[in-house]
Order: sequence, then C-alpha cells, then structure tokens
Amino acid sequence: MKNIGSFADRKARIFTMYNLNDIWTEVLEIMRPEIPEVSFHTWIENITPVNFEGDVLTLEVPLAINREMVSKRFADQIKSAFLYMSYNVETINILIAAERREEEERLGIRPYVPSFAVDDDSNYILNKDYTFDSFVVGPSNEFAHAACYCVAEKSISLHNPLFLYGGTGLGKTHLMHAIGNHVIKNNPGKKVLYVSSEKFTNDLINAIRDEKTEQFRQKYRTIDILMVDDVQFFCGKDATQEEFFYTFNTLFTAGKQIVLSSDRPPKDLQGLEERLVSRFSSGLPASIQIPELETRIAILKKKAMMYNINISDEICQYIATNITTNIREMQGAMKKLVSYHQLMNKEITLSLVEESIKDFQLEKKKNITPELILDTVAKHYNLKIADLKSDRRTNDIAYPRQVAMYILKELTDLSQTAIGKFLGDKHYTTVIHGIRKIEGDLISNSKTHAAVNSILDDLEK
Ligand code: ADP
Ligand code: MG
Repeated sequence: MKNIGSFADRKARIFTMYNLNDIWTEVLEIMRPEIPEVSFHTWIENITPVNFEGDVLTLEVPLAINREMVSKRFADQIKSAFLYMSYNVETINILIAAERREEEERLGIRPYVPSFAVDDDSNYILNKDYTFDSFVVGPSNEFAHAACYCVAEKSISLHNPLFLYGGTGLGKTHLMHAIGNHVIKNNPGKKVLYVSSEKFTNDLINAIRDEKTEQFRQKYRTIDILMVDDVQFFCGKDATQEEFFYTFNTLFTAGKQIVLSSDRPPKDLQGLEERLVSRFSSGLPASIQIPELETRIAILKKKAMMYNINISDEICQYIATNITTNIREMQGAMKKLVSYHQLMNKEITLSLVEESIKDFQLEKKKNITPELILDTVAKHYNLKIADLKSDRRTNDIAYPRQVAMYILKELTDLSQTAIGKFLGDKHYTTVIHGIRKIEGDLISNSKTHAAVNSILDDLEK
C-alpha cells in the first residue's frame, strides 16, 4: 500500500510530479468523472498544457470554439482540480494552436510544418520526453528498440504490423512515442498517428453516434504510420474489432505501417476475433522483457539526469536491485525519495532508501480493496459498515466516514464520484470536502494522525 503516514508524505507524493504534463495527466483524472464523457472528449482531452508559472496557467486548444467553451464552462473546474492537488491557479490563458505556432515561428522557436498529421492528434498526445535518445537499450529490449527505430527511419522495410508486447511499465508506450517524435522531426510530410486503443474505441463510438463514420474512416485510413497502444483492450469489443479490422486491412493493403502494443502476445488475446489474431501474428512480434540489473541502473541514471536529480550510484544500485519488475515503479520510488529529501531537507541515506523501499514492497504485497478499507475503518471506530454508508451526520459517524474517504482516495483507484457512490451515494463534493478535512487534520490533529496510522497498520496485517 502507499505510505501515507503523514501529510508531508502526501505532499511528497504530489511533488513527485515534476513536470506540467504529469500534473495535467492527474488533473484530467480528477476531472474525468465529473464531466460527461462526450464533453470531456470534445473539450478537455484535446487541451495541451503549455506553461504554469506563479499562478498563471497557459493552455493550448485547437480552435476558437474550444477556447470559448473551455473558458466559459470548464475554467473553474480546471482551477478546482489544480487546487485539489495543492496548486493555486488564478488566471488561465488559452491559446489557439495556430496562434501558438505563429508566435513560435515569429520567435524562431519552431518551424511551422503544415503537412503533418491527420488532425494534429499526435502533436497533442505525444510525450516529448519519450524519445529514442532517452530510451536505454539493453538485451531485454534491443530487438524491440531496433524494430521501432527502423519503422521511424523507414530505412529498411519491415514486416507489418510491428507488434510490441511485454509486461506493464517496460517501455512499450515510450517506444511508440519515440517513433512519433522521430517522424515528426525528420519526416514532417509523413502522417503518423498514435492512439490508445481506448481513444480509437471512443472515436468510433462518437462517429457512429454523430453519423460521422465516413470522417472516422477518412481519418484512420489515410495514415502512413498508425500506432495503437494496448490493443488488449479491444478484447470483447466486437464493433471496435470489426472496424479496426477494416482499418487495418486498408492500411495494410496500401503498404502503410502499423504498430501495435499489447501486454501479451497475439495468441494469448482471449476475446479477440480469430482473423485479428492472425493479422496481428502475421507481422513482426517484438517482445520486451524485464531489463537486467545493469540496464535498470542505466535507466535510473538517465532519468535522474533528465530530472536534474542528484543521486549516488550506491542508491541507484539499491533501488534497481530491489524493484525489479516494472520501470515505472522503479522511477516512482526514486522520485518519491528525492522529493522526500527536498521537502524534509533530509539527506538521502541508504537507510532512508531501505525504509522507503520496504514501504513500497508492502504496498504491493497485499491487495487492498475498498471493502477491506471500509471494514477496517469501521472496526477501528467500533462502528458498522452500514453506519459509514448511512446518511447520519453526527460527528461520531461523519468523521470516521471522512477518514474512510481519505484512505479510499489514497489507497485505491476510485474517483471521488466512485468513493461517494461506494459510501452510500454521497455527492462527490462531500467526498472532496471530507478528504480535505482529513488532510488538514493530519497535520494539526495528533489524534487523527494516530487514528489514520493505526488503521493503516491494521490494513497491512
Ligand atoms: P508500458 O507502456 O510498457 O507500460 P511505458 O512506456 O509507459 O511502459 O514505460 C514506463 C516508464 O518507464 C516510462 O517513464 C518510460 O520512460 C520508462 N522506461 C521504460 N523502459 C525504459 C528504457 N529502456 N529506457 C528509459 N526509460 C524507460
Ligand atoms: Mg503503455
């Protein structure tokens, strides 16, 4: 479970987000449950965060209409989501993509490349940090890396599709973005599109609903390189599979490159139509394995350099030795340590690292469900689960309920809306209020602090 022993720790977690893109990703997750899916897709998903300095946030949107809508309808929600993460936004500036490009062109920052990409989707989605340069190559991933590099360079022709597969957090998405970034930079005339399988599915659903399937096809079938991430999520979605099959065939026949990723090889994709399994298997499968210790250390060092983090070889070695299966987690542990160090002004010693890794491993050991949390909180306060879910607002029940909200928020993936539902249909603003209350009390009220710690201990048992 996550270590949330103190408010400082929570802060530390918040500060582990070094760049605006990471903050924005989190902001989207906070807003997503509160906004109808279609609006979210139309107005929120295509916002690019540009800058955040002092209390001024600058965003970029595709068109004037988006600016209008975002500033009228969503500005307050964006501010609240930032505030929820303890960042204060007073002013939101919204640029339109073309204006920004003009401005950058005028300043000579970036040449404007008119012919690129379908509807500029990729421009918004690609993470500029995920490049071939920032990818560390070792025996576990060198084949996948080479295959991706070839696709990006197109110097030799490859089997189609390139099918990347491997466990979570091992660099599949990084490599796909690297292809996109490389092509944008070196082959501006090429149309490259990166989408998550979820986005493909949503696009399709929207197109069907709005009777715009022609545009949908136009968009997906006129691309030079189509990359679809995490295709395991196509499993069981028949209409999506059907459409993707045609998209795939059109591109394939036209000799266009297709890159797919999945957490397992094609033959293990249960719930995927046979004809897709066979298409997926017919190209070049490239698996990514868990990197060896040397590669893991090299990755940590590279990330440390990118984020300007000062961390000794000994500590890199310790982290890489103890967190072995997922690069994302390994990085997370490093960032957490460093932010802790910055916040508390403490030296990063080996014993601090050991302790932090121990927490981390405890987190993973046990599957902490919402039910278990509720049960544990109820027991701690000598209440029944039904009390916590009831509408009673007396303090002896309302306060434990708020503690439950806080712990649910910290230890599960539930959104505030879902936490509200879980606790007997409470409104999400009630949940936000409850969580804030406990966050505050964790600093100022030693009784709350002790209670939360003791509940966490019980959860670990
Ligand atoms: P996946 O898509 O396979 O779940 P990601 O591509 O999202 O994994 O990678 C998770 C994190 O690990 C990212 O921050 C990525 O930059 C990093 N990462 C994974 N492999 C490497 C590598 N070989 N070199 C540098 N960073 C890596
Ligand atoms: Mg991924």
